[in-house]
Amino acid sequence: MQLKQISPYCYEIPQSGSMNVPGRVFMSERMASALSEEEALKQVANVATLPGILTAAMAMPDMHWGYGFPIGGVAAFDWDTGVISPGGVGYDINCGVRLAGTGLEKKEILPAVERLVTALFQNIPSGVGSTGSVKLSVKEEMRVLREGGRWAVRQGLGEPSDVERTEDGGCMAEADPSVISERALMRGTRQLGTLGSGNHFLEVGVVDEIFDERAARAFGLFPDQVTVLLHSGSRGLGYQVCDDSLAFMARHVRTLDIQLPDRQLACAMIRSEAGRRYFAAMACAANYAWANRQILLHRARETFQQVLGIGPRDLAMHQVYDICHNIAKREEHTVDGKKRIVCVHRKGATRAFPPGHPAVCEAYRQTGQPILIPGDMGTASYVMAGTRTAMAQSFGSTCHGAGRVLSRKAAKKRSRGRAIHRELADKGILVKWTGRSTLAEEMPEAYKDIDQVVDAVHGAGLSKKVARLRPVCVIKG
Ligand code: 5GP
Ligand code: MN
Ligand code: MN
Repeated sequence: MQLKQISPYCYEIPQSGSMNVPGRVFMSERMASALSEEEALKQVANVATLPGILTAAMAMPDMHWGYGFPIGGVAAFDWDTGVISPGGVGYDINCGVRLAGTGLEKKEILPAVERLVTALFQNIPSGVGSTGSVKLSVKEEMRVLREGGRWAVRQGLGEPSDVERTEDGGCMAEADPSVISERALMRGTRQLGTLGSGNHFLEVGVVDEIFDERAARAFGLFPDQVTVLLHSGSRGLGYQVCDDSLAFMARHVRTLDIQLPDRQLACAMIRSEAGRRYFAAMACAANYAWANRQILLHRARETFQQVLGIGPRDLAMHQVYDICHNIAKREEHTVDGKKRIVCVHRKGATRAFPPGHPAVCEAYRQTGQPILIPGDMGTASYVMAGTRTAMAQSFGSTCHGAGRVLSRKAAKKRSRGRAIHRELADKGILVKWTGRSTLAEEMPEAYKDIDQVVDAVHGAGLSKKVARLRPVCVIKG
């Protein structure tokens, strides 16, 4: 694939064949020279052929191959003439990240880290198909699907300010539980408040460096502060919604006059009944994910208090933000100088709205929205802030993580004969995990260098660095 550099951090796949727009990849020169993502680049070019796509099919520096659309991909479609595609959202609908600060400094938890990680691992169910944190009747589950994070707070599993400091207030209003399959509902009844497998985690960390004092203060972050970062999604329910939708879309797309370069790009016109149904089902799964992360945070609060023997005041665990990185959204953007309503697909990409944007909660109007970028369990994670450049360049989007460099299989091979948990312990990081091959598949080398990815989006202006977090202990699925 021919890439043409068009600015210091932006490379173009020129428009050709049936592409409606060019492809655009944001990365540094160093990353571009070492890039080995032929398949993901092909996917960017494929996405560019879809009807109604605006400006460019985009990819962030953490990109890698995904189902149909690349992970690390951003694609915006005109609301009236464009499509919506389950492959552009991903299997784990509203997979996302939540960060909370505490009133504690690192030295206050050091003597208790071992007990803390053990208790977190006990109190938070993890692993494939994990259940048991909250059990729902189908009727109550419908409420979760409609209300999202607010439902959990109403049950006493959180505080109102948690929901305020969540993207979209933790609820997409378009959710309509009547379009969800019986099977998806059944899978949802017992998995709320569970972490899930593999890449999902809950990590206790410390603020290790601050790059932007003013934004850090607004986010409630200070040096050496103990933080909780968690990553989970919509569990089996979201997976089932995606699976059901893909099966339906594969049939549906044949009734449309669209030539797909890849069957995995099956889609529907946003304005059609099929498009509306997917959007309504996706919104249900998104709301489930927000209730899920809300409960996970609550379990972390309970566990910290129990282990450290302190009350909620002394713990002062306040939510910084919660973001989605697998979602499609209805948003207003300026395209070629004109305001347009668009459907932005962010798959392994994060919203990066700037200061003053009306969708950003009051507390962050001056700074732009907080952006949470996990790296890996042995290195670091970043907090960034949204920018006007992101609005102009990438439909208000930035990267979502470090992104994989090794496939799960390759990572397992690389880890043979090593004890990853001991390597981490030597760095002062304690880890507890459920899946037999989780540590191998998730070892730090399986991911790109987070510093390079973050420096690239910072350099491109798509978000700016606020703080870096270092892991202290981690529970993994
Ligand atoms: P996803 O798996 O949702 O595509 O990506 C989430 C991102 O989280 C990955 O790209 C990776 O950079 C990061 N990540 C995965 N596991 C861990 C972990 O245990 N701790 C931290 N801090 N980051 C992780
Ligand atoms: Mn996920
Ligand atoms: Mn994720």
